[in-house]
Amino acid sequence: MIIPSIAFFCFGSIVGSFLNTVIYRVPRHESLLFSFSYCPQCGEKIHFWDNIPIISFLILGGRCRYCKKPIPLRYFLVELVTAFLFMISYFKYGLSYELIFFAFLAFILVILTFTDLEKRRIPNSVVIAGIFFGLYMSLIFWPLAFIDSLLGFLVGCVMLLFWAVMGKLIFGKESLGCGDIKLAAMIGIFLGARDILLALFLGFLLATVGGVLLILMRRLRWDSRMPFAPFLAAGSLGTLFLGNSIFAWYGKLLG
Ligand SMILES: [Zn+2]
Repeated sequence: MIIPSIAFFCFGSIVGSFLNTVIYRVPRHESLLFSFSYCPQCGEKIHFWDNIPIISFLILGGRCRYCKKPIPLRYFLVELVTAFLFMISYFKYGLSYELIFFAFLAFILVILTFTDLEKRRIPNSVVIAGIFFGLYMSLIFWPLAFIDSLLGFLVGCVMLLFWAVMGKLIFGKESLGCGDIKLAAMIGIFLGARDILLALFLGFLLATVGGVLLILMRRLRWDSRMPFAPFLAAGSLGTLFLGNSIFAWYGKLLG
């Protein structure tokens, strides 16, 4: 168990390194193919020995070898988080179609969390890739029933649309964007109708707690808009890995 876990952790960190490229390039409309890694500050080409996931950041002390400017901590975080997510997915699903299906969702959620945090953007291309991959896998390999995927898509879409309209009526301004609605619909394909409801509930709960904390810490004004994708991603990953335990606990609570 230890050797495959380490292998999945290492492979996950390599995937994380690719996700970093997607997070940086897609919102800037740069190509993902046929170009080498470069320092975003000085433009110097990064050699492969300075591009080893997780490790290079630590060896370089978080600074570019050439211009010595700080490398954003995000590069390190994304590699580490992706490595852990892939390893945990392997623990939960073993070598299976479910592993590919749910790890893909986790990877997309990592991308959209950081594009939303950094650029306030949920790129359409990434969401559409998720929708197509999710529907294709669900139709061909049945990690969950295809009809459940379709229902999850509808539930995610309708619920967020409802809250977007309610938010506009109550606060008189947009609180959820179009990107958030598409994102919830995409997640629904992977989680199905029951679990997307839990993911949305957890997402709203975390966003409320997070929003109040940020306002108290004076990091956010009460009337400013907060990115929602990171909270929805956290709620979805929580549902993915702990959903069954939460439903079992809730079932006991109801007696
Ligand atoms: Zn540099």
